[in-house]
Amino acid sequence: MKIRTKAVHTGVNIDKTFNSVITPIYPTSTFFFDEIGKNKGYDYTRSGNPTRAALEANIAALEGGIDCSVTATGMAAITAVMFFLKAGDHIITGDDIYGGTYRLFNAVLKPMGYDFSFINMRDLNAVKKAVKKNTRMIWIETPSNPLLNIVDIEAVITVARKIKALSVVDNTFLSPYFQRPFEFGADMVVHSTTKYINGHSDVVGGAIIYGRKELQERGRYLVNALGVSQSPYDAWLVLRGVKTLVTRMEAHQANAIKVVQFLEEHKNVKKVYYPGLKSHPQQALIKKQMKGFGAMLAFELDTRKVPLNKLFKKLKYFALAESLGGVESLIESPWFMSHASMGEAGLKASGITKETVRVSIGIEDAEDLIADLNQALKG
Ligand SMILES: *Cc1c(COP(=O)(O)O)cnc(C)c1O
Repeated sequence: MKIRTKAVHTGVNIDKTFNSVITPIYPTSTFFFDEIGKNKGYDYTRSGNPTRAALEANIAALEGGIDCSVTATGMAAITAVMFFLKAGDHIITGDDIYGGTYRLFNAVLKPMGYDFSFINMRDLNAVKKAVKKNTRMIWIETPSNPLLNIVDIEAVITVARKIKALSVVDNTFLSPYFQRPFEFGADMVVHSTTKYINGHSDVVGGAIIYGRKELQERGRYLVNALGVSQSPYDAWLVLRGVKTLVTRMEAHQANAIKVVQFLEEHKNVKKVYYPGLKSHPQQALIKKQMKGFGAMLAFELDTRKVPLNKLFKKLKYFALAESLGGVESLIESPWFMSHASMGEAGLKASGITKETVRVSIGIEDAEDLIADLNQALKG
């Protein structure tokens, strides 16, 4: 099966009672036994539910993992993965990871005794240098948010393997259609399905995809023990969304490429960040590990000509909002909004400025999006 077919067909057609084409929602907390020790594979919805199982089979197939657990949110998935480790263990990760992940690592797990190195993961020597005796995990997120820096997945995983540390990749930004970390040897992949996998901005969710059997067993145990699994209602919505993943990703990307071309030529735009641009400094790596560029982009606005709030107010189709990956275009300021919790020093170190604007390109008509940006960028 090719990926488009997998997205539509995996995990569906499970209703043998009435032959419904669409996987039903099973809104039940518990399942009765026919006799002691004999049931139909489910006993309690925290531990397992047929609607959730359908979505798990689908996402596992798309990523090319052996199994998947879907969780209440992306952060729930990341939390469960961190329970593979314990206090005293060391984790290497990027200094430009998703803000919520940084907060969990730095403000919740660090005070509990977890040891972190937040480094520039584009620099392979920095990764090697950060290794300690107690390094147990390397956490990769690529491309980065919002400046679209790329981490060499295969090279970093090679470092992890040498020291027998787990390698985990947050693949939210590109989705399995444009990047599949298992092809480079990742142990686990996580997603905020809130973003592209669901794609319709109407549900929050997460996923952990396992590359090996012992990780699957431990992961499933943890998701149940921690109680972070996804509600069957939400899983059903994500299952509806994921079926159009490929078609949406292609539409998102086609729009992003056109918008980027327009922005590059605009006199009030100083710089554009997008992996599909020749000016992106990591061309070889992009070619090697990405099957597409996605639809997240950022640019430096000349705010002397067009103040941020003026741009945001004038735009009709770009809602001023955090989050990303939905069918509708969103725009925001990382400095003042999504990344504000990094603090001024952190923001400056990562290259984000007060003029940086992040855009999640939706699937509207590209001409409408460009016309909208054009009128707003006049200032
Ligand atoms: C949104 C996001 C998360 C967190 O997911 P939630 O569903 O908001 O809990 C994690 N990683 C990345 C890259 C994200 O964009």
